[in-house]
Amino acid sequence: MTQLQAAQKGHMTPEMEIVAREEELSPENLRSLVKEGRVVIPANLNHKGLHPFGIGSPLRIKVNANIGTSPQNTDLDMELAKIKVIESLGAEALMDLSIAGDLDKIRQAVIKSTSLMVGTVPIYQVLTERTDDVASISPEMILETIERHGKQGVDFITVHCGLKQEALPLLDKRVMGIVSRGGSFLAKWMTVRNEENPLYTHFDQLCDIARTYDMTLSLGDGLRPGAVHDATDAAQLHELKVLGELVLRARKAGVQVMVEGPGHVPMCDVQKNMELQQEWCHGAPFYVLGPLTIDSAPGYDHIVGAIGGAWAAYHGASFLCYVTPAEHLRLPGPSDVREGVIASKIAARSADMALGIPSALRREEEMSQKRHSFDWEGMFALAVDPVKPRLYREKSTHVSEEECSMCGEFCALKMHQQDK
Ligand code: SF4
Repeated sequence: MTQLQAAQKGHMTPEMEIVAREEELSPENLRSLVKEGRVVIPANLNHKGLHPFGIGSPLRIKVNANIGTSPQNTDLDMELAKIKVIESLGAEALMDLSIAGDLDKIRQAVIKSTSLMVGTVPIYQVLTERTDDVASISPEMILETIERHGKQGVDFITVHCGLKQEALPLLDKRVMGIVSRGGSFLAKWMTVRNEENPLYTHFDQLCDIARTYDMTLSLGDGLRPGAVHDATDAAQLHELKVLGELVLRARKAGVQVMVEGPGHVPMCDVQKNMELQQEWCHGAPFYVLGPLTIDSAPGYDHIVGAIGGAWAAYHGASFLCYVTPAEHLRLPGPSDVREGVIASKIAARSADMALGIPSALRREEEMSQKRHSFDWEGMFALAVDPVKPRLYREKSTHVSEEECSMCGEFCALKMHQQDK
């Protein structure tokens, strides 16, 4: 039984109990959110040792970090090292986006190595195994690959089910066309075979597989805008409408479902995008990729993504996919992963605070108290990144515990406390 089916039948699962406790909600309240599909708990029955997290409003904003091999780098040890970085910084999920090497073996190692939620994009594996002969790929081959991911214990999969033939002509006015790897592959398949998207035509079979393993569907945005110029255009909105239809079909099939969103979106359009998704996709949790609010900051896209992510989360997104400084430039290394997770955690914490999540309010107040009392160790422990502030402190030229080298003896805090 999936988490959704259990909730529909009025059962309380151990995963629901853990999520409710950690989110400071009553178990009954949490169960009704799962039943309505407003919260998902991606927890594949075969993922041993998983720590379950809930995704959706009004829960804490969650963060995902992507890892994975590329044709230029198939070093599994490096990907496992990235996982350690991701875990140490408190992200809740990671996606294995590997496209080179023994993908089944890599995925197995990834799932075994972490208690975080693990997501994948199974169509990548289909693509890498049949790069030279796209036309020969049958819908059954795609479903067989998806089933393999389910059997291995993948908690959520990105499936670009909403990209339809009728949306392809709408791309003509775009600067960037299709920037989603999965979306691009499916569009090619649909053109070469002159057939409708197999993930759309075989959606019922896809749901059967997902239900068997309680693998949450993350309905991907194959037509997400890859430039602020292309944001909120007809192609993007066409796909979003279709995803809304599929949300209802997945829920009816007892399958947990969330929806993925843009992409590159100027700040002035972010709120509108979040509201449209909530309305058209029936309150399904929104998993946003950034969004990037400008295109012109290569090398700093983690900051751009955090700005968009914080704003998106404040307006309804529940799950932030990180962006690293290496975005658009190269495969991220462990230090890029580190900066990306920290930026996304800052966005998530900012939104949690603004949304009044009790644990976030407590943490920020506690941090202020530690700062006020010059409790440096307490500050480091509460910091998004516990390492960097300690290094700064250790290398500073302060002369007293009750000041830092910014103002020295003119420390405003110290002077004010002495005046009392
Ligand atoms: S020295 Fe200045 S910056 Fe440093 S803690 Fe005191 S008031 Fe803050």
